[in-house]
Amino acid sequence: MTKIEIKDLHVNIGEKEILKGFNLTVNGGEVHALMGPNGTGKSTLAYALMGHPRYEVIKGDVLLDGESIMEMSVDERARRGLFLAFQYPVAIPGVTLANFLRSALNAKAKALNPEDKGISLVNFRRLLRSKMDLLKMDYAFGARYLNDGFSGGEKKRAEVLQMAMLEPRIAILDETDSGLDIDALRIVADGVHQLQSDTLGVILITHYQRMLEYMQPQFVHIMYGGAIVESGGAELALKLEEQGYDWIRDKYPDTRKTG
Ligand code: ADP
Ligand code: MG
Repeated sequence: MTKIEIKDLHVNIGEKEILKGFNLTVNGGEVHALMGPNGTGKSTLAYALMGHPRYEVIKGDVLLDGESIMEMSVDERARRGLFLAFQYPVAIPGVTLANFLRSALNAKAKALNPEDKGISLVNFRRLLRSKMDLLKMDYAFGARYLNDGFSGGEKKRAEVLQMAMLEPRIAILDETDSGLDIDALRIVADGVHQLQSDTLGVILITHYQRMLEYMQPQFVHIMYGGAIVESGGAELALKLEEQGYDWIRDKYPDTRKTG
């Protein structure tokens, strides 16, 4: 069973404290939506979990299956099954999506077993195509340079494809829905849905009610001022949809907005 425990996490960017005591536990099989106004630290959480060097953890701990990941490199965290779908994926001209995925798969296999010779081209193609079918992607997509000239929807689909290929244990989707039209949104949501299993826990950072409708998270959390201030179910997201964040600002007047 997968479990990530984020305990009293405090994270600085430079001198500025962005996360101020963030707590969350996610088990395999669960989808947690993380909502909150812009600038409240949602992306900071995602980067800090992955171990981005700019985000300095000054207090707290993160346990993956009971083991602290705080001293692990980004690579090591990825090998352990942490996956971050970026809000703004970067382009890598010259590297095709298929080659990128094959390298990533082989790196992961080699880390688990240094003797591993890597996946054969035939088996890789078969795997890639089965995952592309799942996401209703054109096979020709694999031959394109990673994110180079991809539309917003294509970038997001490429991220979910990566996730499908790498089979992470904890996936953090940082506004993977932004910039998607309804059809693309549904494909991304369906794709993530189909990857869901007892061994995959999802942290879904989103603003969109429609994404929540498709993804059906069992837990909804509102983040404000660098920490979670409210937790509940789908009703919490509906309340935000109807009332925005004013009631949160009124209810937590002492929580200074970060920045
Ligand atoms: P969210 O994803 O919730 O919109 P972020 O985590 O991106 O929020 O940002 C939280 C705060 O950190 C904001 O005040 C933002 O201005 C600040 N911040 C984010 N990235 C940087 C950076 N690279 N350097 C300095 N401040 C940053
Ligand atoms: Mg963000």
